[in-house]
Amino acid sequence: MESPSGSPYSQLKPKRKLPRQGQQLPPLPYVASTIEGRSAGEVFRETGTAMVEELQELRRTLHRYPEIGLELPRTQKAVLNALEGLPLEITLGQDLSSVTAVMRGGKRGERPVSVLLRADMDALAVKERTGSPFASTNEYMHACGHDLHTAALVGAAQILSKHREEVAGDVIFMFQPGEEGPGGADIMIDEGVLDVAGRRPIAAYGLHVGPQDRGTFHYINGPTMASSSNLAVTVYGKGGHGSRPHDAVDPVTCLAEIITSLQTAITRRFDALEPIVLTVTNLRAGDGAFNAIPDQASFSATVRVLRDEQINAVRQVIGEVTSNIAAAHRCSVEVDFEVLYPTTKTNARENQFAATVWGAQFGPDSIRQFEAPMMASEDFGAVLAQVPGSFFWLGTANPQTPYAQREWNHSPLARFDDSILGDQAAALASIAFERLATEDQHPSTITKAARTAVKTGSPSAKAGEPVKAPED
Ligand SMILES: [Zn+2]
Repeated sequence: MESPSGSPYSQLKPKRKLPRQGQQLPPLPYVASTIEGRSAGEVFRETGTAMVEELQELRRTLHRYPEIGLELPRTQKAVLNALEGLPLEITLGQDLSSVTAVMRGGKRGERPVSVLLRADMDALAVKERTGSPFASTNEYMHACGHDLHTAALVGAAQILSKHREEVAGDVIFMFQPGEEGPGGADIMIDEGVLDVAGRRPIAAYGLHVGPQDRGTFHYINGPTMASSSNLAVTVYGKGGHGSRPHDAVDPVTCLAEIITSLQTAITRRFDALEPIVLTVTNLRAGDGAFNAIPDQASFSATVRVLRDEQINAVRQVIGEVTSNIAAAHRCSVEVDFEVLYPTTKTNARENQFAATVWGAQFGPDSIRQFEAPMMASEDFGAVLAQVPGSFFWLGTANPQTPYAQREWNHSPLARFDDSILGDQAAALASIAFERLATEDQHPSTITKAARTAVKTGSPSAKAGEPVKAPED
């Protein structure tokens, strides 16, 4: 992140401004579309409000029967039922129970572009304790609000379908399983979600519910959420009697030293302004005997960084610390480091556009900037690594409740006010609608070239040929 201008550090920065993501291009114009003489944002909001109860019913059904991971058959069926009858081309996932729906807009023209809207649909292995009348009936819980994401995206599909004749391009609705771990976004990308409309989307948007004030939209440019990796370390020693450690090779003390040294190494080896988190979450050693030294001891941890470029450096430090401490105590060590998700990087230009669209629709006060990124992670980063876009958070908490008393996502007590669903659906519909309208009326160089190719009958204008997203 750049330090804010006017901060004491800005004087120390080089005069030449380095090109940054999204900053070399002028802001995307907002054309403030109208439908029958009324603001499209207002019309969509009205439509959304009228369908709140229907969306709440869908959300609460999903909430009662949460599913986790890549296979969400019941959730998939509920989504398909809710989309039935809409003018959508639907594809189901092969290796996961995803739903991809494409809507062809009525004003798509000869060389249409597309935008992608994404909702994740999976729950967590958390036992719900909210006592809500529609609480989970099994061992899992929609503690991250993905049930709202799913219902709101269904709502957006309904709103846009209703106004399909006015839509200036194609919309891809990405209903994704497996966000909370197995990485469903990557599988959907492998199965073609980004090319399903015939060409790469020009932009992709996601909206995540959270404990911010109800109805406020939050974002930050660039890295918004951290990359996430799993670390597993096993130390091998030689077991023995607890009274005779000198006859054994104790892996437990060695493991303890590795854990504390890793915390020190993270703070000594990396710039303090470069956030890195290494949190040990599991420990295993011994089989219960108080008086026996075990043969091995292990821990696992989650590792978060905000710049993907740091992952290899962190991995190297972990290797150095673990192998050298193990050697010092005559142990051997095995290290397994697996990168799960890249950082979720949002595009400044798309963020500004979304802030303008939603600011006009819900009032400028509803738009806020996060002061800092989050060290939580999100696999929408896999989409944003290939398509410029935004990932905003939408608050559902009562603004009167002090922040410290609000339950965060993933808590067994987390509640999300689903009366937001109408606005949430309208927001998603509007961002897709307005982004396509902007591209139609103020085409990017690539769109202009594609249109010219159509007019001159150039072979590169074949229908279905992917057009690269604008480079910014
Ligand atoms: Zn989530």
